[in-house]
Amino acid sequence: MISLNQVSKQFTTKEGTFQAVAPLSLHIAEGDIYGIVGFSGAGKSTLLRLINLLERPTTGTVEVAGQDLTKLAKKELRKARQSIGMVFQQFYLLHNKTVFDNIALPLQLARVERKEIERRVEECLQMVGLEEKRQHYPAQLSGGQKQRVGIARALAHQPKVLLCDEPTSALDPKTTKQFLQFLRDLHRQLGLTIVIVTHEMHVVQQICNKAAVMEEGKIIEHFSLENKRQQAKTDIGKMLFASPYLEEERLVSHV
Ligand code: ADP
Repeated sequence: MISLNQVSKQFTTKEGTFQAVAPLSLHIAEGDIYGIVGFSGAGKSTLLRLINLLERPTTGTVEVAGQDLTKLAKKELRKARQSIGMVFQQFYLLHNKTVFDNIALPLQLARVERKEIERRVEECLQMVGLEEKRQHYPAQLSGGQKQRVGIARALAHQPKVLLCDEPTSALDPKTTKQFLQFLRDLHRQLGLTIVIVTHEMHVVQQICNKAAVMEEGKIIEHFSLENKRQQAKTDIGKMLFASPYLEEERLVSHV
């Protein structure tokens, strides 16, 4: 579903150039819940943003659903991006708009007809269980509810891929657990391919079927979380495999 081929990203600042992502290749299959894990500054968010070209790669190509996004003109890219939803740690909701209008926004920008917008927003509200909150403003919602609005907005264009950038980092442990359960259910229901960037090991342990460990812009280890006999080589990998979660609390069985 997603193929990154020798992608890299360099940022140029006043201090000089900085290689946030070194040339790397990564394949994510349809239906995967793929974790990208590592410490802060490893290049995880940049890598995620390369998948929908929020960051344009310095080198390499990015294929999503068989389409090379780096070759598309602006208008085609806008269209292709509709099949890639994205959610963020800080939700990025518009505070002066209701839940309904926040979810409707990407559809309005794409000039979808009013009746169709209403139909789709209602569908998304139902999917995330927030029908009762449609006229509320973000300030009236809990953190978990705000993240659900973020997901509903990401689903408005009925995407095939959902990119999640530290989706639980602003949530407390109980809400995180509920949220991951909810994401797992959505994944089943909609057949989504999900990529989650996180520095929280337990998020990967609970929900992902595969994961990559990043450090200094490189992927230093790949995992299949189902393969319990896999021997971790890196410190982060060892942490991932050394947890009771893997035995007791995994929410997902992809087998
Ligand atoms: P992570 O998500 O693993 O915390 P990031 O991808 O956010 O890491 O950042 C990787 C590195 O790239 C960091 O050192 C960060 O400061 C740098 N970086 C990210 N975005 C930019 C940018 N727009 N301009 C310059 N440097 C950036």
